Amino acid sequence: MSDRIPPAMTPITAPYWDGAAAGELRLQRCVVCTRFVFPPRTFCPHCGSASPPRWESTSGVGRLLSYIIARVPVPGGYDEAPYVVALVELQEGPRLLTNIIDVDLDKPLPLDMPVTVSFEPRGPTGVPVFRPTVS
Ligand SMILES: [Zn+2]
Repeated sequence: MSDRIPPAMTPITAPYWDGAAAGELRLQRCVVCTRFVFPPRTFCPHCGSASPPRWESTSGVGRLLSYIIARVPVPGGYDEAPYVVALVELQEGPRLLTNIIDVDLDKPLPLDMPVTVSFEPRGPTGVPVFRPTVS
């Protein structure tokens, strides 16, 4: 996995990746309507406020909405197929396209399964992935 391509950082996304490097899932939150904003932007897509959303740490927990199991290796470090590509809805509302780790790929994954973020090292930062929440 360490061969995977690091994310491209921009001035707008840098706080997100700085958070990931520190082991925190940070999202923007609108200062007007208070809804969370993802992916990072310079404005609020919910209420249209041009005030820059503020960065906040989040719970890092969510639920599995949907997934596929990719069985074909892909250049860029995804040569360890099979792996899970999933849509996770965070407790705070935004949805992330991500990977689910530490699961048995021979069994179906339960939808709505509670998941918790983890960070896969990638270059100078980490990429958020999720594993089943241990209760
Ligand atoms: Zn707003």
